[in-house]
Amino acid sequence: MENRALLKERENHILIKESDQTQISCEKPTLAGAVSQRACVFCGSRVVLYPIADAVHLVHGPVGCAAYTWDIRGSLSSGPELHRLSFSTDLSEQEVIHGGEKKLTAALNKLITTYRPKAAFVYSTCIIGIIGDDVDAICKKISNVYGIPVIPVDSVGFQGTKKDGYAAACNALFKIIGTEPVTNIPVCSINILGEFNLAGEAWIIKEYYQKIGITIVSTLTGDGRIDEISRAHGASLNIVQCSGSMMQLAKLMKEKYGTPFLRVSYFGIEDVALSLYNVADFFSDYPEIKENAKKLVYEEITSRSKELDLYKKKLAGKKAAIYVGEAFKAFSLIKSLRSLGMKVVLAGSQTGNTEDYETLRELCDPGTIIIDDANPAELSRFIIEKEADLFIGGVKERPMAMKLGIGFCDHNHERQIPLAGFEGNLNFAKEIASSLCSPVWRFTKKQSGGTK
Ligand code: SF4
Repeated sequence: MENRALLKERENHILIKESDQTQISCEKPTLAGAVSQRACVFCGSRVVLYPIADAVHLVHGPVGCAAYTWDIRGSLSSGPELHRLSFSTDLSEQEVIHGGEKKLTAALNKLITTYRPKAAFVYSTCIIGIIGDDVDAICKKISNVYGIPVIPVDSVGFQGTKKDGYAAACNALFKIIGTEPVTNIPVCSINILGEFNLAGEAWIIKEYYQKIGITIVSTLTGDGRIDEISRAHGASLNIVQCSGSMMQLAKLMKEKYGTPFLRVSYFGIEDVALSLYNVADFFSDYPEIKENAKKLVYEEITSRSKELDLYKKKLAGKKAAIYVGEAFKAFSLIKSLRSLGMKVVLAGSQTGNTEDYETLRELCDPGTIIIDDANPAELSRFIIEKEADLFIGGVKERPMAMKLGIGFCDHNHERQIPLAGFEGNLNFAKEIASSLCSPVWRFTKKQSGGTK
């Protein structure tokens, strides 16, 4: 595509549906100087493991890495809340010169004796990749002393992209899975992978499955517990919601334990219903599960349809820009916004792969801008150009929407209301309608000149 404002090297990371027939360039390290919206490897692993609520999460590095990711997701717990504390070995110049192993050992001893956790995760940050502390050996030693898993997370910040952090988290989880016996797990049982219980969403999803007759062995990692994760290999099926972060774990479990997996999504009526039906079909030897699923879907949709229609009227014809971490979420958002009468004019992700972008291309309307690993300058420019009324993203995208004077919906870590499931779909419509129709926009100068 031709655009003088773009860095030359970024041009093939952006395409316009139908005008550009070439394949998008993706899964590459971020271009130096392009100010990516991506986070570092460490942050990638931290966001995946963080919701495990009965484990100590110790960040081995300078205090800033821990502060930056403190309570990073609004992951709720139905019990312990150890995950909400951010522990750091607080390395300083002395340890950078002489090594941080002593400090790490002392921190683990103190934390384990004080909090009696079920496990401990030790995250390596950039500086550990430079000074070379033997984190694996220390974790092994401490694990033997206290008899709990002490898992090193190989998440040196500069060694790759945020996606490598997801892989490091999956490898860490894989070390816990299979460490407890799997007696008394029924056949109709699943693990929910890539669900982080933001604003209690895992509880909504779990309730659906319980209602249709399926047992949840573990949720990885929302409201997560070490004992449940240890038995995850006993489930008959893995369902993968955030595939960007958890597909690697699903593949590892398939290889070692033969556990099949299904990709699912709980955003938007169409995808929630389809996900429940697909899981029910997997257990086709138990036809009552499909019948229960049909009943649940019918009741959930009909009980909310009147209220949903009110929001549809307000939203019809509005234009949205979407920029999310993993592309799979964008698929559901496009369908969901379309069902509300809205049009998506920009769709992008931080970590999508070639297959994801091809699916995005198929789903989007002609003229939609599809973008990989975008930066604020590109996003702002295209939002203005395409006259978007609403921006859907995460905490890093929020200020952009505010500055451009358009509505915003946080569909990432910091959302305060559940957006998953049928209930979440209604919340989503309500949230975007209230942001788009807020009276505050009368007092701001809108830069994008959209349809408000
Ligand atoms: S791990 Fe490295 S890039 Fe990540 S927060 Fe720490 S210092 Fe920054």
